[in-house]
Amino acid sequence: MNGPSRVAVVRCPSYAREDVERAIDEGLRFLGGLPALLGERRRVLLKPNLLHGDDPARGSITHPAVLRAAAIACLKAGCEVNYGDSPAFHNPRTAVRLCGYEAVAGETGITLADFENGEERTYPDGKQNRVFKIARGALDAEAIVNLPKMKTHGLTRMTGAVKNMFGLVPGLTKSWLHARLPEERSFSRMLVDLNRFFTPALSIMDAVDGMEGNGPRNGRLVRTGLLILSADPVALDAVACRIMGIDPGEIYFLSYAESIGFGRIKERDIEMAGVPLSAAATRKYETHPPSAVVFSKSPFLKYLKRLLVPRPVIGAERCTRCGQCVRICPVEPKAITAVDGRQPRYDYDRCIRCYCCQETCPEGAIRIRVPALGVLFHGLKKRL
Ligand code: SF4
Ligand code: SF4
Repeated sequence: MNGPSRVAVVRCPSYAREDVERAIDEGLRFLGGLPALLGERRRVLLKPNLLHGDDPARGSITHPAVLRAAAIACLKAGCEVNYGDSPAFHNPRTAVRLCGYEAVAGETGITLADFENGEERTYPDGKQNRVFKIARGALDAEAIVNLPKMKTHGLTRMTGAVKNMFGLVPGLTKSWLHARLPEERSFSRMLVDLNRFFTPALSIMDAVDGMEGNGPRNGRLVRTGLLILSADPVALDAVACRIMGIDPGEIYFLSYAESIGFGRIKERDIEMAGVPLSAAATRKYETHPPSAVVFSKSPFLKYLKRLLVPRPVIGAERCTRCGQCVRICPVEPKAITAVDGRQPRYDYDRCIRCYCCQETCPEGAIRIRVPALGVLFHGLKKRL
């Protein structure tokens, strides 16, 4: 990659249609315009973060207003526009109806791409992963316009442009990859391979309402009032991290991506346009604790995993015993089970700490907690 990566940060005070359309136009101007970013490619897939078929007010998904404005920008540029994602729960058709994307599609004329079926593709340059099953809707596209949401995440600590591309993998194959790559590091390297294989032409991050705390589904909303745009998903996430008050060098998928020459994270390598960082970053987001799973290769520290590594914990007062956490757990036999409709229970020895259960719980009943020894360990690690 030659030269600095350009990242545009633009004000977008609300999800009102005119605010979002104006902000996307402004951001695209900073980046030289959509035709320059797409080149000859005109068959575009819009890839929002459709975690679940949630009400957009919950802040867990890319807001439909951002999908609408991105669709309008692509249509104005003469593109044929499809959209889609592979949600953690629900099939894609149900999820898009529940969250308001179907209404946007009806209004703009964009079409839901096939995210229920996938095909295997080989990426010979993959360092962690060479074979990916990819949704047909993504394979049909000439260019991907990635529409991530700015949120905290249990496994990777933040989720943005790079992590959002994981939704190109359809259905249960995502769970299978979690089970195969249980550590934060191997999972992150796979994410980077996926982004190198299918690099979005452009990413537009919905940071109008960001999410802190128990993200990516059950955290608190932070009105940040921004959209962030870039052709470099790594640089975009690095800027989002700084806005959230996170050092991007502490996010493994970002530091790893930069170390292999995919994307930029250092301030001196990123050319900012629009709102300067000093004005964009208003408060430090509350984030999940860092993972210590990196030690799992050592047999001794594997033994200490139970004492050190942040673990999912169910709050009895919120649990409705719906069973979604059990169904999503990728480990076989399951690391969380529910007997006779009772509140689910964990087997922490089996649990790989992927946090899919925490991510999917509709009630926000699951939190990630650091064991007492882990608190001490992380405190010491920070001071060294
Ligand atoms: S997903 Fe949440 S509410 Fe449902 S059973 Fe699990 S912990 Fe309880
Ligand atoms: S119990 Fe939760 S965190 Fe543990 S492996 Fe299953 S889904 Fe992942």
